[in-house]
Amino acid sequence: AELDTLDIVVVLVILLGTVAYFTKGKLWGVSKNPYGDPLQNTSGGKDGASRNIAETLEESNKNCIIFYGSQTGTAEDYASRLAKEGKSRFGLETMVADLENFDFDSLDCVPGDKVVMFVLATYGEGEPTDNAVEFFNFINGEDVQFSQGADVPLGNLNYVGFGLGNNTYEHYNLMIRAVDKALQRHGAIRIGAAGEGDDGAGTMEEDFLAWKDPMWAALAEKMGLAEREAVYEPIFSLTPSDTLTVDSTEVYLGELNKMHLEGTSKGPYNAHNPFIAPIAESHELFTAKDRNCLHIEVDISGSNLSYQTGDHLAVWPTNAGAEVDRFLSVLGLTEKRNTVLTVKALDPTAKVPFPAPTTYDAIVRYHMEICGPVSRQFLATLAAFAPDEAIKAEMTKLGGDKDYFHEKIIKHHLNIAGVLELVGKGKKWTNIPFSAFVEGINKLQPRYYSISSSSLVQPKKISITAVVESQIIPGRADAFHGVATNYLFALKQKQNGDPSPTVFGQTYEIMGPRNKYDGIHVPVHVRHSNFRLPSDPSKPIICIGPGTGVAPFRAFLQERAKQATDGENVGETLLFFGCRKSTEDFLYKDEWVEYKQAMGDKFELITAFSRDGPKKVYVQHRLQERAEQVNKLLEAKAYIYVCGDAANMAREVNSVLAQILASQRNISVAKGEEIVKNMRASNQYQEDVW
Ligand code: FAD
Repeated sequence: AELDTLDIVVVLVILLGTVAYFTKGKLWGVSKNPYGDPLQNTSGGKDGASRNIAETLEESNKNCIIFYGSQTGTAEDYASRLAKEGKSRFGLETMVADLENFDFDSLDCVPGDKVVMFVLATYGEGEPTDNAVEFFNFINGEDVQFSQGADVPLGNLNYVGFGLGNNTYEHYNLMIRAVDKALQRHGAIRIGAAGEGDDGAGTMEEDFLAWKDPMWAALAEKMGLAEREAVYEPIFSLTPSDTLTVDSTEVYLGELNKMHLEGTSKGPYNAHNPFIAPIAESHELFTAKDRNCLHIEVDISGSNLSYQTGDHLAVWPTNAGAEVDRFLSVLGLTEKRNTVLTVKALDPTAKVPFPAPTTYDAIVRYHMEICGPVSRQFLATLAAFAPDEAIKAEMTKLGGDKDYFHEKIIKHHLNIAGVLELVGKGKKWTNIPFSAFVEGINKLQPRYYSISSSSLVQPKKISITAVVESQIIPGRADAFHGVATNYLFALKQKQNGDPSPTVFGQTYEIMGPRNKYDGIHVPVHVRHSNFRLPSDPSKPIICIGPGTGVAPFRAFLQERAKQATDGENVGETLLFFGCRKSTEDFLYKDEWVEYKQAMGDKFELITAFSRDGPKKVYVQHRLQERAEQVNKLLEAKAYIYVCGDAANMAREVNSVLAQILASQRNISVAKGEEIVKNMRASNQYQEDVW
């Protein structure tokens, strides 16, 4: 048959797409992020920089490269800490690098007098983090091709590995385990043990600290490094500007990149470039007095953002004003908060983690995770700058004594300013170079929320369902308040008529830098997920989502109700929802009734209220009660979805399901577990847990 014009066009487009894919766009200079990445920490592969690891090390005079696979910033933070420690203790020439900026077929060119480190988080169901996908697929591939094609391709490669995982997930630390195996398979030489940190047990930081010392000892021996007195060497210089003031238009007052500063913001909107979205609607979902849950809808019609049912919305928060004040005050910087700083990387491979010139206030408010948990190692670093000897001794003790640190700091959820206030007993910490904070404190991270609307029903309006993080901490006068959810709470208050909202004593810079968020806006981007309804709406589904875990299922139900109303054949839909009391935190109580009207017998809501009766009932109990029905649906190839608490609920649902299969099908529990495993592998069982 002859090709008509359309066929030729299609073939050409596919061809061009294929070339673009295999050359990563290099042929015509397409970069993933054409606007540069102000929050990026490495130069590799950027702006025409080499993607070849050996070349990069050579050109930048480094002998140690530390790659991170990071989703929430912790792995990236650990990578930076290793880089700093390697430099200050052993004089290693270190650099930190984002995995996605390099090609890994060049690993075989790294010479034997250098070392490559991998700090790799495992995400969700044993998945690589977004920036590690390509690397993972490459190194784990069946027939990996390295550039020189040697028989033992990585026989010269020295490497170090640490993984960040969560033992409540099935594939605990799968990334580091698989990468370690793959590297060994190709002949690489591991130095020290492949470390594993466990977020599930809450011991991530301590696991990291316990792993790194023997690793450094092994590395020092292998590479003949002599340890020296560790002295703080800044990676960044922050210099007050002689010419710029807070009113100069080129000064960043919290704008997240150049386009935001210049008011020319445009897409693509992504993890490097959020969309400043108007909040279309917001309201409270709980009736309980002491707890809050927000329903927030952002309008993406002014952007080219799109989403699909099951995706996540990332919200870029702003620190609470009182915390910003406290931080600046304890460092003696209150008067200087609006001083304009030019910021430079003293090491060519380091990149300033926020746009500059900027002010102390903007850095602390918009770019630093100043309220997060404190690192024990960081306290040891700061001890050198204590205002007096007694304070220095106390800081050294906190930095060195795990149990003491836990008792004094972690138990009370203190943040860094809280620690400095406590230990400094009223004295200001004016000797600490500000660069130590830029290097030692995480970048303020966007928070993810499971989207609770259907893209079929409201393609341009994304809703989320967020419970406000507020905890009473024994022995602490004030309660602990989460960063993003309290910021969202304040936005909701403002939208509902409070001109300057105070939530739990905290206020926020709601108007944003230069009032750019006025009219109630919030910076967001969409993160695509694999949590998906079956493409055939007639397939049955079972959804299990207690608490805010119900968020994506509201989206699922919204979608199926619409399909039913449009006359489509919609499959049986079971939703297991649980909360404390039917009268307090029963999310979307009235909406389920509407969906029922649209879907009739096809929808059933099964509730578990843990505090309504004398006995605590949870969703997993209800699931057990419905064993026969659940098994029948699964036999009819129903998809099963679990969303919400990873630590307890998701794990229990998993084991209850195995028990149901065992009892209903007359098989052993072990066999039931195997079936559940296979269901996960084939995506018939999907989780969206945190
Ligand atoms: P944060 O300030 O980040 O605090 C969170 C926790 O960190 C605290 O409770 C505490 O345990 C610890 N912590 C923080 N600071 C300290 C300190 N100084 N000392 C000790 N411990 C500390 N949430 C929802 O409500 N709805 C959803 O639909 C939803 N979907 C999600 C989907 C995904 C894929 C993920 C990863 C998470 C999801 N979350 C959801 C959780 C959400 O992203 C946030 O983690 C949550 O809202 C808390 O954010 P926050 O900034 O208010 O709290």
